[in-house]
Amino acid sequence: MKVPFVSFLPMEKELDSALRAAFERVYTRSWYIDGEEDKAFEKAFAEYCGTKFCVGVGNGLDALVMILKALDIGEGDEVIIPSNTYIATSLAVTYVGAKPVFVDPDINTFNIDPSLIEAAVTSKTKAIMPVHLYGQACDMDPIMKIAEKYSLRVIEDCAQAHGATYKGQKIGTFGDAAGFSFYPGKNLGALGDAGAVVTDNEEIAKKVRALGNYGSDYKYHHIYKGNNSRLDEMQAAFLAAKLPILDKLNAERRRIADRYLNEIHNDKLILPIVPDYAVPVWHVFGVRCAERDQLEKYLNDYEIGTNKHYPIPIHLQDCYKDLGFSEGDYPTAEEISKTELSLPLYYGMTDEEISYVIDKINSY
Ligand SMILES: *Cc1c(COP(=O)(O)O)cnc(C)c1O
Repeated sequence: MKVPFVSFLPMEKELDSALRAAFERVYTRSWYIDGEEDKAFEKAFAEYCGTKFCVGVGNGLDALVMILKALDIGEGDEVIIPSNTYIATSLAVTYVGAKPVFVDPDINTFNIDPSLIEAAVTSKTKAIMPVHLYGQACDMDPIMKIAEKYSLRVIEDCAQAHGATYKGQKIGTFGDAAGFSFYPGKNLGALGDAGAVVTDNEEIAKKVRALGNYGSDYKYHHIYKGNNSRLDEMQAAFLAAKLPILDKLNAERRRIADRYLNEIHNDKLILPIVPDYAVPVWHVFGVRCAERDQLEKYLNDYEIGTNKHYPIPIHLQDCYKDLGFSEGDYPTAEEISKTELSLPLYYGMTDEEISYVIDKINSY
Protein backbone atom coordinates (compact mmCIF):
# COMPACT_ATOMS: atom_id res chain seq x y z
CA MET A 1 0.00 0.00 0.00
CA LYS A 2 1.17 3.51 -0.79
CA VAL A 3 0.36 6.32 1.67
CA PRO A 4 1.58 9.75 0.59
CA PHE A 5 2.59 12.33 3.20
CA VAL A 6 -0.22 14.55 1.97
CA SER A 7 -2.90 14.45 -0.72
CA PHE A 8 -5.46 17.14 -1.60
CA LEU A 9 -7.43 14.84 -3.89
CA PRO A 10 -10.15 13.61 -1.49
CA MET A 11 -10.88 17.17 -0.35
CA GLU A 12 -10.87 18.51 -3.91
CA LYS A 13 -13.19 15.73 -5.02
CA GLU A 14 -15.67 16.71 -2.32
CA LEU A 15 -15.39 20.42 -3.18
CA ASP A 16 -15.19 19.93 -6.94
CA SER A 17 -18.46 21.59 -7.93
CA ALA A 18 -18.06 24.42 -5.38
CA LEU A 19 -14.53 25.22 -6.61
CA ARG A 20 -15.58 25.13 -10.26
CA ALA A 21 -18.56 27.36 -9.47
CA ALA A 22 -16.21 29.80 -7.69
CA PHE A 23 -13.99 29.95 -10.78
CA GLU A 24 -16.98 30.42 -13.09
CA ARG A 25 -18.39 33.20 -10.92
CA VAL A 26 -15.16 35.21 -10.89
CA TYR A 27 -14.34 34.55 -14.53
CA THR A 28 -17.83 35.48 -15.69
CA ARG A 29 -17.75 38.67 -13.64
CA SER A 30 -14.29 39.41 -15.07
CA TRP A 31 -13.17 41.34 -11.97
CA TYR A 32 -9.98 40.01 -10.40
CA ILE A 33 -8.61 42.33 -7.71
CA ASP A 34 -10.35 44.14 -4.84
CA GLY A 35 -13.94 43.11 -5.40
CA GLU A 36 -16.89 41.41 -3.79
CA GLU A 37 -15.29 37.95 -3.40
CA ASP A 38 -12.51 39.44 -1.29
CA LYS A 39 -15.01 41.39 0.81
CA ALA A 40 -17.24 38.36 1.31
CA PHE A 41 -14.37 36.07 2.34
CA GLU A 42 -12.90 38.67 4.72
CA LYS A 43 -16.28 39.00 6.42
CA ALA A 44 -16.72 35.23 6.65
CA PHE A 45 -13.20 34.62 7.97
CA ALA A 46 -13.45 37.40 10.58
CA GLU A 47 -16.69 35.80 11.73
CA TYR A 48 -15.08 32.36 11.81
CA CYS A 49 -12.16 33.64 13.90
CA GLY A 50 -14.30 35.87 16.09
CA THR A 51 -12.48 39.11 15.26
CA LYS A 52 -13.85 42.47 14.15
CA PHE A 53 -11.61 42.77 11.09
CA CYS A 54 -9.97 40.59 8.48
CA VAL A 55 -7.74 41.92 5.70
CA GLY A 56 -6.88 39.55 2.87
CA VAL A 57 -3.23 39.68 1.81
CA GLY A 58 -0.94 37.92 -0.65
CA ASN A 59 0.53 35.26 1.68
CA GLY A 60 1.27 34.44 5.30
CA LEU A 61 4.75 35.97 5.37
CA ASP A 62 3.37 39.29 4.11
CA ALA A 63 0.64 39.12 6.76
CA LEU A 64 3.29 39.04 9.52
CA VAL A 65 5.49 41.66 7.82
CA MET A 66 2.60 44.08 7.44
CA ILE A 67 1.45 43.62 11.05
CA LEU A 68 4.98 44.48 12.21
CA LYS A 69 5.02 47.54 9.94
CA ALA A 70 1.57 48.60 11.10
CA LEU A 71 2.88 48.50 14.68
CA ASP A 72 5.95 50.56 13.66
CA ILE A 73 8.34 47.77 14.62
CA GLY A 74 11.63 47.92 12.73
CA GLU A 75 15.30 48.92 12.97
CA GLY A 76 16.63 48.77 16.54
CA ASP A 77 13.68 46.76 17.86
CA GLU A 78 13.62 43.19 19.12
CA VAL A 79 10.87 40.64 18.64
CA ILE A 80 10.70 37.43 20.67
CA ILE A 81 9.91 34.37 18.56
CA PRO A 82 10.19 30.61 19.09
CA SER A 83 13.43 28.94 18.01
CA ASN A 84 11.37 26.07 16.60
CA THR A 85 9.13 27.37 13.81
CA TYR A 86 8.99 27.70 10.04
CA ILE A 87 11.55 30.27 8.91
CA ALA A 88 8.84 32.70 7.72
CA THR A 89 8.24 33.81 11.34
CA SER A 90 11.84 34.93 11.59
CA LEU A 91 12.02 36.31 8.04
CA ALA A 92 9.12 38.66 8.81
CA VAL A 93 11.09 40.11 11.74
CA THR A 94 14.35 40.53 9.83
CA TYR A 95 12.51 41.85 6.75
CA VAL A 96 11.37 44.92 8.69
CA GLY A 97 14.90 45.37 10.05
CA ALA A 98 14.16 44.19 13.60
CA LYS A 99 16.13 41.54 15.48
CA PRO A 100 14.61 38.11 16.17
CA VAL A 101 15.25 36.95 19.74
CA PHE A 102 14.76 33.22 19.91
CA VAL A 103 13.23 31.34 22.83
CA ASP A 104 13.38 27.56 23.00
CA PRO A 105 10.17 25.51 22.96
CA ASP A 106 8.78 23.14 25.55
CA ILE A 107 9.88 19.74 24.23
CA ASN A 108 6.48 18.26 25.15
CA THR A 109 4.35 20.67 23.11
CA PHE A 110 6.93 21.87 20.54
CA ASN A 111 5.61 25.41 21.28
CA ILE A 112 7.44 28.37 22.81
CA ASP A 113 8.16 27.76 26.51
CA PRO A 114 6.52 30.67 28.39
CA SER A 115 8.82 30.16 31.38
CA LEU A 116 11.83 31.13 29.22
CA ILE A 117 10.33 34.30 27.70
CA GLU A 118 10.89 36.77 30.51
CA ALA A 119 14.68 36.22 30.48
CA ALA A 120 14.70 37.21 26.79
CA VAL A 121 12.99 40.58 27.35
CA THR A 122 15.28 43.64 27.03
CA SER A 123 14.68 47.38 26.82
CA LYS A 124 14.52 46.93 23.01
CA THR A 125 11.82 44.25 23.02
CA LYS A 126 8.68 45.46 21.25
CA ALA A 127 6.68 42.31 20.70
CA ILE A 128 6.25 38.60 21.30
CA MET A 129 5.29 36.55 18.27
CA PRO A 130 3.98 33.18 19.46
CA VAL A 131 3.49 30.54 16.77
CA HIS A 132 0.71 27.98 17.23
CA LEU A 133 2.92 25.33 15.73
CA TYR A 134 1.74 22.09 14.11
CA GLY A 135 -1.86 23.21 14.74
CA GLN A 136 -1.69 23.40 18.54
CA ALA A 137 -2.26 26.57 20.57
CA CYS A 138 0.58 28.04 22.60
CA ASP A 139 0.02 28.48 26.33
CA MET A 140 -1.39 31.99 25.90
CA ASP A 141 -2.22 33.01 29.50
CA PRO A 142 1.41 33.30 30.73
CA ILE A 143 2.44 34.86 27.38
CA MET A 144 -0.22 37.57 27.68
CA LYS A 145 0.79 38.18 31.29
CA ILE A 146 4.42 38.83 30.33
CA ALA A 147 3.32 41.05 27.44
CA GLU A 148 1.18 43.08 29.81
CA LYS A 149 3.94 43.38 32.42
CA TYR A 150 6.44 44.77 29.88
CA SER A 151 3.93 46.57 27.59
CA LEU A 152 4.76 44.36 24.63
CA ARG A 153 2.68 43.78 21.53
CA VAL A 154 1.56 40.23 20.81
CA ILE A 155 1.42 39.08 17.19
CA GLU A 156 0.11 35.55 16.70
CA ASP A 157 1.49 33.47 13.85
CA CYS A 158 -1.57 31.36 13.05
CA ALA A 159 -0.29 29.95 9.75
CA GLN A 160 -0.59 26.34 10.96
CA ALA A 161 -3.60 26.53 13.24
CA HIS A 162 -6.82 27.73 11.54
CA GLY A 163 -9.62 26.92 13.96
CA ALA A 164 -7.48 25.69 16.87
CA THR A 165 -8.57 26.78 20.33
CA TYR A 166 -6.96 27.66 23.66
CA LYS A 167 -9.24 27.19 26.68
CA GLY A 168 -12.16 27.23 24.27
CA GLN A 169 -11.16 30.50 22.57
CA LYS A 170 -10.05 30.58 18.93
CA ILE A 171 -6.39 31.37 18.34
CA GLY A 172 -5.85 34.65 16.51
CA THR A 173 -7.99 36.52 19.06
CA PHE A 174 -5.48 36.87 21.91
CA GLY A 175 -2.91 39.34 20.58
CA ASP A 176 -2.99 42.73 18.87
CA ALA A 177 -3.24 41.03 15.50
CA ALA A 178 -2.72 37.63 13.90
CA GLY A 179 -1.32 36.46 10.59
CA PHE A 180 -2.76 33.51 8.66
CA SER A 181 -1.38 31.68 5.63
CA PHE A 182 -3.61 30.00 3.05
CA TYR A 183 -0.74 28.23 1.31
CA PRO A 184 -2.32 25.14 -0.31
CA GLY A 185 -0.97 22.72 2.31
CA LYS A 186 -2.28 24.67 5.31
CA ASN A 187 -5.46 23.58 7.12
CA LEU A 188 -7.36 26.18 5.10
CA GLY A 189 -5.56 26.38 1.77
CA ALA A 190 -6.13 28.38 -1.39
CA LEU A 191 -5.29 27.08 -4.87
CA GLY A 192 -2.18 29.23 -4.82
CA ASP A 193 -0.64 31.74 -2.41
CA ALA A 194 -2.88 33.75 -0.08
CA GLY A 195 -3.01 35.03 3.49
CA ALA A 196 -4.89 37.23 5.93
CA VAL A 197 -4.51 39.47 8.94
CA VAL A 198 -7.20 39.38 11.62
CA THR A 199 -7.52 41.90 14.43
CA ASP A 200 -9.98 43.77 16.62
CA ASN A 201 -7.96 46.95 16.15
CA GLU A 202 -9.39 49.12 13.38
CA GLU A 203 -6.22 51.17 13.03
CA ILE A 204 -4.09 48.07 12.43
CA ALA A 205 -6.62 46.72 9.93
CA LYS A 206 -6.70 50.00 8.00
CA LYS A 207 -2.94 50.31 7.97
CA VAL A 208 -2.39 46.73 6.83
CA ARG A 209 -4.90 47.21 4.02
CA ALA A 210 -3.16 50.40 2.88
CA LEU A 211 0.32 48.84 3.18
CA GLY A 212 -0.68 45.95 0.91
CA ASN A 213 -2.14 48.33 -1.63
CA TYR A 214 0.94 50.46 -2.43
CA GLY A 215 0.49 52.35 0.83
CA SER A 216 -2.63 53.92 -0.58
CA ASP A 217 -5.63 55.00 1.49
CA TYR A 218 -7.59 56.07 -1.56
CA LYS A 219 -6.85 55.87 -5.25
CA TYR A 220 -3.60 57.59 -6.31
CA HIS A 221 -3.05 58.94 -2.78
CA HIS A 222 -0.18 57.27 -0.89
CA ILE A 223 0.45 57.66 2.83
CA TYR A 224 3.00 54.82 3.27
CA LYS A 225 5.76 53.38 1.10
CA GLY A 226 3.72 50.21 0.80
CA ASN A 227 3.96 47.12 -1.33
CA ASN A 228 1.59 45.02 -3.36
CA SER A 229 0.14 42.18 -1.32
CA ARG A 230 -3.57 41.62 -1.75
CA LEU A 231 -5.93 38.66 -1.72
CA ASP A 232 -7.11 38.28 -5.30
CA GLU A 233 -10.71 37.53 -6.23
CA MET A 234 -10.06 34.03 -7.53
CA GLN A 235 -8.29 32.85 -4.36
CA ALA A 236 -10.89 34.58 -2.18
CA ALA A 237 -13.65 32.72 -4.03
CA PHE A 238 -11.86 29.37 -3.61
CA LEU A 239 -11.28 30.06 0.09
CA ALA A 240 -14.94 31.00 0.59
CA ALA A 241 -15.89 27.67 -0.97
CA LYS A 242 -13.63 25.79 1.46
CA LEU A 243 -14.28 27.72 4.67
CA PRO A 244 -17.71 26.16 5.35
CA ILE A 245 -16.09 22.71 5.66
CA LEU A 246 -12.96 23.80 7.59
CA ASP A 247 -14.36 22.52 10.90
CA LYS A 248 -15.20 19.20 9.26
CA LEU A 249 -11.68 18.98 7.76
CA ASN A 250 -10.15 19.73 11.17
CA ALA A 251 -12.42 17.21 12.93
CA GLU A 252 -11.27 14.52 10.51
CA ARG A 253 -7.63 15.46 11.20
CA ARG A 254 -8.37 15.05 14.92
CA ARG A 255 -9.92 11.65 14.31
CA ILE A 256 -6.80 10.47 12.47
CA ALA A 257 -4.50 11.96 15.12
CA ASP A 258 -6.52 10.28 17.88
CA ARG A 259 -6.09 6.93 16.16
CA TYR A 260 -2.32 7.52 16.03
CA LEU A 261 -2.29 8.58 19.69
CA ASN A 262 -4.35 5.59 20.85
CA GLU A 263 -2.99 2.86 18.61
CA ILE A 264 0.72 3.58 18.14
CA HIS A 265 2.61 1.55 20.73
CA ASN A 266 6.35 1.58 20.23
CA ASP A 267 8.88 2.46 22.92
CA LYS A 268 11.23 3.91 20.32
CA LEU A 269 8.75 6.72 19.60
CA ILE A 270 7.57 9.66 21.67
CA LEU A 271 4.09 10.76 20.65
CA PRO A 272 2.98 14.41 20.74
CA ILE A 273 1.29 15.63 23.91
CA VAL A 274 -1.96 17.63 23.97
CA PRO A 275 -2.28 19.86 27.05
CA ASP A 276 -5.73 20.28 28.61
CA TYR A 277 -5.96 23.86 27.34
CA ALA A 278 -5.62 22.96 23.66
CA VAL A 279 -7.90 21.56 20.99
CA PRO A 280 -5.42 21.11 18.15
CA VAL A 281 -6.11 21.00 14.41
CA TRP A 282 -3.07 18.83 13.66
CA HIS A 283 -1.42 20.68 10.79
CA VAL A 284 1.48 18.35 11.53
CA PHE A 285 1.52 15.11 13.51
CA GLY A 286 5.10 15.05 14.76
CA VAL A 287 6.59 12.11 16.64
CA ARG A 288 10.07 12.05 18.11
CA CYS A 289 12.51 9.20 17.69
CA ALA A 290 16.20 8.96 18.58
CA GLU A 291 16.76 6.99 15.36
CA ARG A 292 14.65 9.40 13.31
CA ASP A 293 16.46 8.94 9.99
CA GLN A 294 16.32 5.13 10.27
CA LEU A 295 12.61 5.25 11.10
CA GLU A 296 12.05 7.55 8.13
CA LYS A 297 13.86 5.22 5.75
CA TYR A 298 11.96 2.23 7.13
CA LEU A 299 8.60 3.95 6.55
CA ASN A 300 9.59 5.29 3.13
CA ASP A 301 10.64 1.73 2.13
CA TYR A 302 7.05 0.70 2.89
CA GLU A 303 5.90 3.63 0.66
CA ILE A 304 4.71 5.70 3.61
CA GLY A 305 5.43 9.39 3.02
CA THR A 306 7.04 11.41 5.82
CA ASN A 307 8.43 14.90 6.40
CA LYS A 308 10.55 16.76 8.95
CA HIS A 309 9.51 19.99 10.67
CA TYR A 310 12.20 21.32 10.64
CA PRO A 311 15.54 19.64 9.87
CA ILE A 312 17.70 22.77 10.31
CA PRO A 313 16.82 25.16 13.15
CA ILE A 314 16.57 28.82 12.13
CA HIS A 315 19.53 30.00 14.24
CA LEU A 316 21.79 27.60 12.31
CA GLN A 317 20.55 28.55 8.82
CA ASP A 318 23.15 30.01 6.43
CA CYS A 319 21.08 33.15 5.86
CA TYR A 320 21.31 33.98 9.58
CA LYS A 321 25.08 33.57 9.97
CA ASP A 322 25.15 37.31 10.72
CA LEU A 323 23.27 36.66 14.00
CA GLY A 324 26.36 34.76 15.19
CA PHE A 325 24.71 31.67 16.67
CA SER A 326 26.30 28.25 16.90
CA GLU A 327 25.33 24.67 17.69
CA GLY A 328 24.18 24.36 21.29
CA ASP A 329 22.59 27.81 21.58
CA TYR A 330 19.01 26.50 21.40
CA PRO A 331 19.27 22.88 22.54
CA THR A 332 15.55 22.06 22.44
CA ALA A 333 15.09 23.35 18.89
CA GLU A 334 18.21 21.39 17.90
CA GLU A 335 16.90 18.25 19.59
CA ILE A 336 13.60 18.58 17.68
CA SER A 337 15.45 19.15 14.40
CA LYS A 338 17.29 15.85 14.91
CA THR A 339 14.43 13.71 16.22
CA GLU A 340 11.10 14.96 14.82
CA LEU A 341 9.34 12.97 12.10
CA SER A 342 5.96 13.99 10.66
CA LEU A 343 3.49 11.23 9.77
CA PRO A 344 0.91 11.29 6.96
CA LEU A 345 -2.25 13.09 8.00
CA TYR A 346 -4.74 14.55 5.56
CA TYR A 347 -8.47 14.75 4.97
CA GLY A 348 -9.73 11.64 3.24
CA MET A 349 -7.11 9.17 4.53
CA THR A 350 -8.87 5.82 4.59
CA ASP A 351 -9.07 3.63 7.69
CA GLU A 352 -6.93 1.05 5.85
CA GLU A 353 -4.25 3.67 5.19
CA ILE A 354 -4.27 4.85 8.81
CA SER A 355 -4.08 1.23 10.04
CA TYR A 356 -1.23 0.49 7.62
CA VAL A 357 0.84 3.40 9.00
CA ILE A 358 0.09 2.32 12.60
CA ASP A 359 0.95 -1.34 11.89
CA LYS A 360 4.24 -0.50 10.23
CA ILE A 361 5.25 1.84 13.06
CA ASN A 362 4.29 -0.71 15.70
CA SER A 363 6.41 -3.38 14.05
CA TYR A 364 9.44 -1.06 13.67
C1 LIG B 1 3.48 28.72 6.18
C2 LIG B 1 3.94 29.53 7.32
C3 LIG B 1 4.16 30.92 7.19
C4 LIG B 1 4.18 31.63 5.89
O1 LIG B 1 3.05 31.51 5.11
P1 LIG B 1 3.15 31.68 3.51
O2 LIG B 1 1.74 31.85 3.09
O3 LIG B 1 3.79 30.44 2.98
O4 LIG B 1 3.97 32.89 3.24
C5 LIG B 1 4.45 31.63 8.34
N1 LIG B 1 4.58 31.03 9.54
C6 LIG B 1 4.41 29.70 9.68
C7 LIG B 1 4.55 29.09 11.05
C8 LIG B 1 4.11 28.91 8.58
O5 LIG B 1 3.96 27.59 8.73
